[in-house]
Amino acid sequence: MIAEKIVESAASEYQSSIKKYHRMSEIGKCERALVYDWRGEEKEPISGRGMLIFNDGDMHHRDIRDRIRKAGFELVEEERELYDPNWNLSGHIDGIVCNNGDRLLLEIKSINHFQFERLNSNPLEDHIQQINLYMFYRNIPRGVILYKNKNTAAMKEFIIERDENLIQELLAKFERIDSHLKAGTVPDRPYPKSDWHCQYCQFQKICWAGVKEGRTGDKLVKTDDPAVIETADEYKRLSKEKKEAEDRLKLLKESLEGSLSAYHTGALRAGRFIVRSLNRKREKIDKNLIPKDILKEATGTSEYSCLEVREVKT
Ligand code: SF4
Repeated sequence: MIAEKIVESAASEYQSSIKKYHRMSEIGKCERALVYDWRGEEKEPISGRGMLIFNDGDMHHRDIRDRIRKAGFELVEEERELYDPNWNLSGHIDGIVCNNGDRLLLEIKSINHFQFERLNSNPLEDHIQQINLYMFYRNIPRGVILYKNKNTAAMKEFIIERDENLIQELLAKFERIDSHLKAGTVPDRPYPKSDWHCQYCQFQKICWAGVKEGRTGDKLVKTDDPAVIETADEYKRLSKEKKEAEDRLKLLKESLEGSLSAYHTGALRAGRFIVRSLNRKREKIDKNLIPKDILKEATGTSEYSCLEVREVKT
């Protein structure tokens, strides 16, 4: 009862605001989604749980900044706002860490266990882009992305050198968005609908409205090509035989298992055959033991192609 009410109340805090600036923190977002956002297109509200996750992030940020200071580092310019009127671009930094005369632009990220484990030796591309914009606007050559695992409190840090070429590419993205807005166009979709970017995108409905994805939308092209007809015929026949063979194999297996049990043994020598019952191990993941948010993060959709050969009346 309480848990439900908390999620409901968090959901009610969501307000769809009118976009006023390009935001540095959105640099990694889909360009098409950003154009939709500027145009004020209808978007899916953020769920109650999504709002709670954002709040969690703020809490971790505050705590980490506190701990950086307690650990003996000087932390300046906390939450400092940045604004570039040329691009109508805004952002804010987590702070600048000063240590023995060295100044590092600080970017804190709290992420779940699954994302944390995937970091290996590189930070996420979106985060590299974001910190580069901050370093550019604060004219600092080096920064640090500090990750905190929300599940285990483990931390990882990555020192990032400012990359001038990347910064120019990132600013060009804002220029392209402005051009689309002026021309009344939207960028091409950079992902297939099954990609996680689209699965979690607030503009998914409008973006994919009326689009039939994949080959199922193709128009039927008629042909009397005998090579295609013969191949399809053989494919269909063998598929049927394969199915019959699989059914028969299943029956034979049951029969042999019955013989082992009739002889009260797990191994039989029958003429030139040895029939043995074996126990083999295979790894199995119990999804019930994985927290739901981590399972959601770890579950992706990948495309695969398959072939349908169906006989129809001519
Ligand atoms: S649905 Fe996908 S392609 Fe469309 S705007 Fe969202 S992320 Fe971009």
